[in-house]
Order: sequence, then C-alpha cells, then structure tokens
Amino acid sequence: MTYSLNRVEIDLSALRANYRRMQEIVGERVRVMAIVKADGYGHGMIRAAQAFSEAGARTFGVAEAEEGVLLREAGVEGEIVVLLGVGLREFEDVLHYRLQPVVYDKALLAGLSEYAHGRNVCIGVHLKVDAGMGRLGAMPEEVPGLIEMASKLPGVFLAGIMSHFSESDNPASGKTMEQYRRFEGCCRAAQTFLRQDVTRHVANTAAVVSFPETHLDMVRSGIGLYGYCPACDGNTASRVTFEPAMRFASRVSQVKDVPAGFGVSYGHTFVTSRPTRLAVLPVGYDDGYLRRLSNRAKVLIHGRRASVLGNVCMNACVADVTDLPSVHPGDEVVLMGRQGAEVIDANEVAGWMETISYEVLCLFGSRNRRGYRETGSADNLS
Ligand SMILES: *Cc1c(COP(=O)(O)O)cnc(C)c1O
Repeated sequence: MTYSLNRVEIDLSALRANYRRMQEIVGERVRVMAIVKADGYGHGMIRAAQAFSEAGARTFGVAEAEEGVLLREAGVEGEIVVLLGVGLREFEDVLHYRLQPVVYDKALLAGLSEYAHGRNVCIGVHLKVDAGMGRLGAMPEEVPGLIEMASKLPGVFLAGIMSHFSESDNPASGKTMEQYRRFEGCCRAAQTFLRQDVTRHVANTAAVVSFPETHLDMVRSGIGLYGYCPACDGNTASRVTFEPAMRFASRVSQVKDVPAGFGVSYGHTFVTSRPTRLAVLPVGYDDGYLRRLSNRAKVLIHGRRASVLGNVCMNACVADVTDLPSVHPGDEVVLMGRQGAEVIDANEVAGWMETISYEVLCLFGSRNRRGYRETGSADNLS
C-alpha cells in the first residue's frame, strides 16, 4: 500500500452526532437535508452521506447530477436534490437515478416535462426563488406563473419550493427576514396551485441557529453537519453544539538547531533572532497548506503550539520548536484539529488564510489522503 506522511482524518461518529444534533434543534416535524456537495465539504461525499444516512438522513443535497449518480451507485437511498439544476445532457441520469433537480425557469421546466412524459415517468422538481440572494433562482414576479406551470405540466411534480439567504450568518442583519417574507409572499400569491405537500425550504446552517422562524418544512444543512457554525460565535446556546469532524495531521521530517541570524526557507522572509530549533514539516501549498500561511500559522506538536517560520513551500514548511520539549523526527504534527488539550480549528486556519471555514475544509479534504475512524479509535483509520 502506498503511504503519505500527510493525512486528513474524518471522525464518522462526529458526522452522525452532528446530524442528530441538527435534527434535535429543528424538532422532529422538520426534515434535515444533508448537503454533501463539494465531496462532502472535503470529508468524502459517499462516506459522509452514509454516516448521515445512518443518523437518519433521508434527503441529500448535491451541486450537480453527476454527484447524485455517484451517491446512487454507492447505494444511497432517499431523495437527492440537485441544487444547481441540470442541463439537457443530464436528463437521462435524472430519470434513471431518480434525482430531483432544482428548476428556475420555464425552459428547464418544459424540457424536463417533455422528456419525462415521453418516457412515462414523473419526476420531482424544486422551484428555486431568488428572494434577494442575487444568484440562481427565479425572480419573485415569475414565481406564481412557474408554480402554475409546474402544477399543470405532465411528467413533473413540484416536490419543493425553496430559496437561499444572502447573509444568514449575520444575525444582526435585517436581510434574512426581509428575504424570508418575500419568499412567503411568492408562495401566498400562488396559493391556488401550491399543494399542501410541497416541501418549503430556505434555511441553511446559520439560519437554523439564528432564525428559527425560517425552518419551515425542511432545512438544508452543510457546514453544521461537518462541525462548524458561522453564526454560533457569541450565540452561547449553540456555541458548543457541533463537533468538527476533520483533522489534518503530518509527521516531523527533520529537527535541527540553527544560530541567531539564520534565514529560513525561500526568500528568507524570516531570520532567527536567537539560537533556534527548527522542525521541518513535509506539508506545503500542494497539500492545501497555502503560501498565505507563511509566517502566520501555528501547528501543534506534543499538544503545544509552534509557529510556522518563513515561506511555506510546495511540499514543506518549517516550525519553531525551540520552546517545546524534545521534538523528534516522526513526531505527530497537527495542522488542524485537536492534539492533547490544544485545538486549531478551521475558523482559526481560515483567519490566517483570509477565508472562511468552508474553503479550508474543501481545500485540506481534497488535497490529501483521507482516513476514516470512529471517535476514540485514533490509530484505526480505514
Ligand atoms: C451549500 C448550500 C447549503 C448549505 O449551507 P451551509 O451554510 O453549509 O449550511 C444550503 N442551501 C444551498 C442552496 C446550498 O447551495
């Protein structure tokens, strides 16, 4: 078997616990769609979907039809909603794998209807409303017409009507409730054609936590299921709610002592001001450990923080272990996650990288070999 020094460890028990926690927050009458796009936010789409399924998930959200096909081929059952909609080339997969695409205009709706009706099947679609997000979705004035059309066309049925918020991660902003009311207005305007069993869903993780009045029939959660919550800082009730499921670890390559005035790594952007013990780590921007982390990030060794010195290279970087007791080649290094009593979470890495936790998870998860484990079985990766 091939072996890499760097690995991303995924805690499957944490994924299950987060799903159950999300279900508990919204209550049993509200469904939770598990969002597994972007390879499950870097956690591995299939393993993540299976874990959520074990915890009770019956609805999954993917970006593209192709991901839905992979889920079906892996045996995932339940509803699979294709959040970006589909093109002509995906119609066959939609039918064959029973996927439910998002629709947002008449042409797509009519095309799906004709295709499905011609093959004597009826497919569920979710109508997406742009209530102020400014991205994919029908404009509010088009919505009543689209709902009427969907209710009359053969081969399609309206399984859901949905919208997406532009800044539900900011509890102080009035935009979320404004967009919610606009969405409700659309539904009301088309009441005659909107059956009772059409699933209404608008809330993402942040809205679940900060705007409980928006839960409706179903919520769509991604980041919360992976252990993070953009709206939870300062929201004490939900602060410790979710458990980060990803850990990124490596091993020390070399340890050496250098004198004061010694330049470290490309460009010598760091020069030691004292006799320094360096630990060379086999992690760099090719592994998703971006160059922006140069002279900024911390890593954990023996449960203690060590600073990254100088520029991060393609497959290497250097940490200052002068103040840490006896570090040796082969010792575990944690780039993100827990080690002993210390933690570096995705939010902290995101701060150094000038981005958000979502991007850090996608990046580390997609650039490194992944292993899976249950809580407490640290060395039992599968
Ligand atoms: C990705 C996505 C979500 C999940 O958002 P989180 O903030 O990760 O909970 C919900 N809805 C749509 C339409 C999405 O694209």
